[in-house]
Amino acid sequence: MRQVADPVTIARDLVRCRSVTPAEGGALGMIETLLSGAGFTVERMTFAQPGTAPVENLYARLGRRAPHLVFAGHTDVVPPGDEARWTHPPFAGEVADGLLFGRGAVDMKGGIACALAAALDHVAAHGGKPAGSLSFLITGDEEGVAVNGTTKLLQWAAERGERFDHCILGEPSGAAQVGDQIKVGRRGSLNGTLTVTGRQGHVAYPQLAENPIRALTALMTALMAEPLDQGSAHFEPSNLEFTSVDVGNPVVNLIPGEAHARFNIRFNDCHNQASLKSLVETRVQAAARAQARWRIDWEPSNADVFLAQPGTFLDLVVGAIAEIAGRTPKLSTTGGTSDARFIKNYCPVLEFGLVGRTMHQTDECTTVADLVTLTAVYRRILERYFG
Ligand SMILES: [Zn+2]
Repeated sequence: MRQVADPVTIARDLVRCRSVTPAEGGALGMIETLLSGAGFTVERMTFAQPGTAPVENLYARLGRRAPHLVFAGHTDVVPPGDEARWTHPPFAGEVADGLLFGRGAVDMKGGIACALAAALDHVAAHGGKPAGSLSFLITGDEEGVAVNGTTKLLQWAAERGERFDHCILGEPSGAAQVGDQIKVGRRGSLNGTLTVTGRQGHVAYPQLAENPIRALTALMTALMAEPLDQGSAHFEPSNLEFTSVDVGNPVVNLIPGEAHARFNIRFNDCHNQASLKSLVETRVQAAARAQARWRIDWEPSNADVFLAQPGTFLDLVVGAIAEIAGRTPKLSTTGGTSDARFIKNYCPVLEFGLVGRTMHQTDECTTVADLVTLTAVYRRILERYFG
């Protein structure tokens, strides 16, 4: 197949853009130039809200007909840390020994470069027009607080009447090789703080006080003792993990009046947020046996559990991976949250990108071979999708 775009060159040039969240760093400008050159209508928009840094985003579309496939991703990267510790400077985009080094090489400028190269090749091979619509939804706010990125971008697109049929989010998904794993869902995430109220007093006269630390540790032990579930067909068991225990007592002779324990729950599809809250509160209630005064303050969460439905799109992607990379991907739901949690409210979404092993690390890198393979698989997906 004719190749008009080189994913390694595009990835290298993207890595050279210093786009640490919320900086655009020239990365979206580069994508705009590439896509508008291929006939895409490109729009750039900056989203802002009080208390957060404004962030630039990009939406590009080619074609007006169905079906409509959208590639989603982010050009922002996490900070490089101490740049002196990198073997190759984090924003140099150096290629050495078959590896492309740099912040974002796998998470996820490399993935975007492969999608761009595949799209440009596909479009060039089909007279400048896909047999349907092909889009790019690229944000600069994924690694940060993620409020001026994909959520607002999706809303913006929906308000203009944009309808997506399917989405590929190019986040790193591979464990050891491209295509050995794709993400078909993600666990939900919920944060809470358990507070026990006692009665403050002198440490030498405990009979006159009520130490909330005693009850808090008992309640924490109860919550850690029993699993939340046994896992489900596509998910590991849910997990409650305490992240901080706080009394904030600066002195040695005082029994504190209140004690707090913060926790995070990563939950699977045995639960929704409401049922999970009620399960945790029921367990605390049982352990407290009306003796401890407690409450849980839940933080609002936009990270619900989700799972892609099996069907032709999943089969198409799995088939393209098998054909080009020669392996059958494991359908995984592991890892933290991603922008797929927002996209899934608009259309079916699968996460398929490079190998994630070095993401967010010093010396983040991808093999050049992986860039070539991922581009070929993406191109096969486009052929099948618009074929
Ligand atoms: Zn990422």
